This record gives sequence, C-alpha cells and structure tokens, in this order.
Amino acid sequence: MALIVQKYGGSSVANKELIESVARRAVAAKREGHQVVVVLSAMKGETDRLLSMAKGISESPEPREVDALLATGEQVTIALFAMVCQTMGEKVKSFLGFQAGIKTDDAHCRARIADIDPSRIKTELAKNRIAVVAGFQGVNRHGDITTLGRGGSDTTAVALAIALKANMCEIYTDVDGIYTTDPHVCDTARRIDRICYEEMLELSSLGAKVMEIRSIELAMNYRIKIHVRHSQSQSPGTIICEEDADMERTPVRGVTSSVQEGRITLLRVPDKPGVAARILDLISKAGIVIDMIIQNQSVSANGQDEENWTDFSFTVPAADYKATLDLVTSAGVEIGAYKVVGDNNIAKVSLVGVGMRNHAGVATLMFKTLASEGINISMISTSEIKISCVIEKKYAELAVRALHNAFNLGAPV
Ligand code: ADP
Ligand code: ASP
Ligand code: MG
Repeated sequence: MALIVQKYGGSSVANKELIESVARRAVAAKREGHQVVVVLSAMKGETDRLLSMAKGISESPEPREVDALLATGEQVTIALFAMVCQTMGEKVKSFLGFQAGIKTDDAHCRARIADIDPSRIKTELAKNRIAVVAGFQGVNRHGDITTLGRGGSDTTAVALAIALKANMCEIYTDVDGIYTTDPHVCDTARRIDRICYEEMLELSSLGAKVMEIRSIELAMNYRIKIHVRHSQSQSPGTIICEEDADMERTPVRGVTSSVQEGRITLLRVPDKPGVAARILDLISKAGIVIDMIIQNQSVSANGQDEENWTDFSFTVPAADYKATLDLVTSAGVEIGAYKVVGDNNIAKVSLVGVGMRNHAGVATLMFKTLASEGINISMISTSEIKISCVIEKKYAELAVRALHNAFNLGAPV
C-alpha cells in the first residue's frame, strides 16, 4: 500500500464531467489499496473571474480580502469532488487549507507555506477515507485565509506529499508531461521522459507555467519525485527527479518564454560609484525583485570613457512594473538621470539545459537564429544552465518556434 498525493489542475476539474472523470481515477487508486490525498485547483478560469470581480470594485483591493475571495474557487471544487466520490460509494472528506493544517506566513496573495500539521488528514486516511484538500490556500498566524500565488496548488500538493511522507506525488494536468517547449505554442514539441530539478526550476522560473516554481524548489530541497501526467489519458508522463546518467544528453533541454516582465531604463546617470546601489536599494526597499540588469558605459573610439555617464536598465515582474516606474521616475532626478523610460512591451525567451555547462556554441546559435528571423535582442543574461534574451513581445512565440527548430529539440533522443 502506498500513500499517493494526486493534484488535479483547473482544466482537469473545469466541469461536472471532468470532475467525475478525475474522481474515477482517484477512487480507482484507492480501490487498488492505496491511501489517496487529492489536491484540487479551482475550475479553469474561476480564479481569473474572481480577480476581475475584485478589480471591478477597486484598482487595488486589500490583499487580505482578495485572498478571502480567491480561496472560494477551490472550496467549490473540493466539495463537488467529494460529493461525486460519495455517489461512487466511496468514503471521502474535503478540507480547506486551514482544516488541512496548512500554515503560511502573512504575505497575502503570495504566501509561503511555513508548516503543515497533517494530523487531521492522517486520521481520515486511517479511517479509510480519501482526503480532498483545497490547493493554493492556507491560514496565517492571525487565523486569516492566505493564498500562495498563481499556480499555487502545485505547491500545496508537493508540500503535503512531503509532510505526509507520501510515496508518490502526481500532478495531473491538460498535457501529458513536460515538453521541450509549450506544446500549445509549438506543434513539434516533444515530451521528455525524465527531467532534473535544476532544469525544471529554470523552465518554471523563466515562464513554463506547467509547474509552479515553488513546488519545484520544495521538491528539490526534499528530493521528492514528481510525476506529471495527463488527467484524461494513461500516457506515461514525465518524472521530475535528480539528475542521473540515464537522462537524455543534449545541451538544451527546453525553450520557454515569458511576457510577464517590464523594463525600466535610466538614461544618462552619473557614472560614479554608488549609483547602481542607490537605484537597487530604492527598489528592494519596496519589496520588488529585479531580474536582469544592464549597465552601458559610454566608451569613445580610443577606448576611454567618453563622458561620465551611463545608461542603466533592469527588468521587474509585470505586476510590479507600474509601481517601479513611478518610484524610479520620481527618484530619477535626484539620482541624476537625464530621463527615465519604461517598456512593458517585452518578452524574455530562454534556453535551458544542464548540458550547456560543458557545451560551447549555444549562445551563438541562439543569437544567429533570432537574427535570421529579424528579431532584435535588447538584453541578454546567462547562467551555467540557461541563456535568456529580451526581445519585442510580439515575437515571443515566433522566437520559441525558431529556437526549438534550430536546436532540433523535436527530434527523438
Ligand atoms: P493546470 O490547470 O493543470 O495547473 P496549467 O495551465 O497551469 O495547468 O499548466 C499546463 C499548461 O502549461 C499546458 O497546457 C501548456 O500550455 C503549458 N506549458 C508551458 N510550457 C510547457 C512545457 N514545457 N511542457 C508542458 N506544458 C507547458
Ligand atoms: N486556482 C489558482 C490559480 O488559478 C491556483 C492553481 O490553479 O494552482 O492560479
Ligand atoms: Mg497550474
């Protein structure tokens, strides 16, 4: 007998028929003799619908109330799922985040799980019941409902699997595993059998929404395997696990893109020590996390500093773009900038692969490929296992397809 955590995403519980279909899968696992914990998302589109209702009332609703509102999405699906299981003659109980013992910090709308007390769930499993838990939510030390950020049900599932010492953590979604790129963007995308935590972490953080980034961080820290599968098929899916010798050997594992960032540039700031620190200090004090940074010193033909000024650009998450632009615009004069300009019409396209560590030429082929499509690169950042380029937003999908093709990622390995 194994203890299995199964998470079903929004598209897998989008209507009554789908809820019935995934409930059959959970019940089948239980009837095979396993203990089953099910984590559910809200129905597809529901979280967006609730968010737009909130925005219809206020431009900046209080995050505590946004959480109270958003958490209702998952409350609906767990109750319906439990009812369906009961019609199948199965013993089952649904739990909201706080009932499942999921305790978080106080950061409304992007809370982190601080601790899980799984005793109630364990009691129900011991009574031979399926435990159905609302994903994406928890409770803070004041007893207030919190949510974990978009896609947070993945994190609930992994955290519960860790707390319960589950034998398996299965993530069921609308694609049959992790692909070399988003299969809805590129029809030659290929399913990957096994992918290591490091690569999945980069893909998630660079825009592949198939797995939420914190769920991978947790899985990596606790070395728990995740099995990503299609909720409506029996296909084998993808295992996310530690890197090993049997994994495919390619320099690039996948391509991804994100349109969730904005760029801010301070033009002609004084080129002297301390200026970059002042800009970054201002932004970090506002709790905003910067991604890429580029500083361009102006240099004359003879290699000398032409003038004592520099341009300073950085990117921030789209959600923080306006606040950052306002902040930097008002501080720009004091910092000595000639002008502050913003651009949220950008996309970041990235290549990821642990094989890049010992493979030269990846960047060259990436830049050549983008150039051959007439796509201009405005920022570049690299690490040992990824290369990212900022480009114009309208080229995001074209760039993904061109790079996927140039690196031959659709070919069987
Ligand atoms: P769920 O509702 O099950 O949580 P999501 O919509 O959050 O599902 O994530 C699944 C989607 O992620 C897929 O439909 C696919 O379009 C997208 N996706 C992006 N990158 C990838 C990738 N590399 N492999 C698979 N799916 C991807
Ligand atoms: N319902 C939440 C969202 O849409 C959480 C999730 O689906 O994982 O982001
Ligand atoms: Mg998701």
